[in-house]
Amino acid sequence: MPRPILATVHPDALRHNLDQARRRAPDARVWAVVKANAYGHGIERVFEALRGADGFALLDLAEAQRLRALDWRGPILLLEGVFEARDLELCSRLNLWHAVHCDEQIDWLAAHKTQHPHRVFLKLNSGMNRLGFTPGGFRAAWARLNALPQVEEISLMTHFSDADGPRGIAHQVAAFEAATADLPGERTLCNSAAILRHAQSPLKGEGVSTLAADWVREGIALYGSAPDYPEHSAADWDLQPTLTLSSRVIGVQSLQPGDTVGYGSTFTAEAPMRIGVVACGYADGYPRHAPTGTPVLVGGVRTRLVGRVSMDMITVDLSPLDAAGVPASIGTEVVLWGVSAGGASLPVDEVARAAGTISYELLCAVAPRVPFGP
Ligand SMILES: *Cc1c(COP(=O)(O)O)cnc(C)c1O
Repeated sequence: MPRPILATVHPDALRHNLDQARRRAPDARVWAVVKANAYGHGIERVFEALRGADGFALLDLAEAQRLRALDWRGPILLLEGVFEARDLELCSRLNLWHAVHCDEQIDWLAAHKTQHPHRVFLKLNSGMNRLGFTPGGFRAAWARLNALPQVEEISLMTHFSDADGPRGIAHQVAAFEAATADLPGERTLCNSAAILRHAQSPLKGEGVSTLAADWVREGIALYGSAPDYPEHSAADWDLQPTLTLSSRVIGVQSLQPGDTVGYGSTFTAEAPMRIGVVACGYADGYPRHAPTGTPVLVGGVRTRLVGRVSMDMITVDLSPLDAAGVPASIGTEVVLWGVSAGGASLPVDEVARAAGTISYELLCAVAPRVPFGP
């Protein structure tokens, strides 16, 4: 028998979450963002469930090739554009749309020989200061692209830094509208947090309808996680978990007061208690910095991690099961996040929060040695 750790993708939940995006941005076309191997789920594993999307957005050229190998003929957008001039050949061959965020990418296009003119998404740095042209340089970049025979269509994009938080997006929307005012072309602005929190709230100013018009780019919400947790939970947004990480108890210890658990003896029993040893550790992608108290489901019952996460194992408190008369022994099911066989659920957002990180990181970190089932 293989080691009992298992990752399970829930296609119905992916479909449900995609429907939610459509409901919240009814006038927009939806990019399903599948970068980082579909946020750790596996592009091939999510593809059928998400093929109702209008396009797929990602940033790795090899991942774009995998989508075309699945016979996806619709739009694919490279969110960071090309990384060197010869990447444009692949864009021509596979008909990839690509972001253009710097002058070098325009130089490469100008020198590119192609039979098929490209569709590009010109990116504005509206305040995040990662990728994109500044408002002052945006029009010149647009004019350069517009003059190139290699370019067939120019769309306009920007990315929000604070769609999930109190600062919000109004300042970036204003910068986008000012920089793009009379430029033609489709627009794409919203990530998950903007779709959920802002797409339906009317903003002041002209061109506001552009917020969720044309295209939205949905990532984390497709994968059943709330981008603004803990202000909202996934349930608040009617999102369903799409990935369960589960394992089993492979050992049980009975502790006396004063006994300690694991490396560094970071947990000390205060009363007699049983602990379960679970086949899941940081080499499986479980966060090593998850402290004692991090929630976990054992036999469908919510309990807590105790002691330090090690490479291949964690230890969990069996007291709540023993108190409730729920049997716990070798083989008992453990859910690290997701949904248990009995239907109990533990949102990945809660586990991430306890570990001082965000769901994105946990989902993307599921390690190659974890098999996907069933
Ligand atoms: C990752 C990414 C998204 C999706 O973000 P979520 O917060 O997961 O919805 C959208 N746009 C760009 C440019 C991205 O890099």
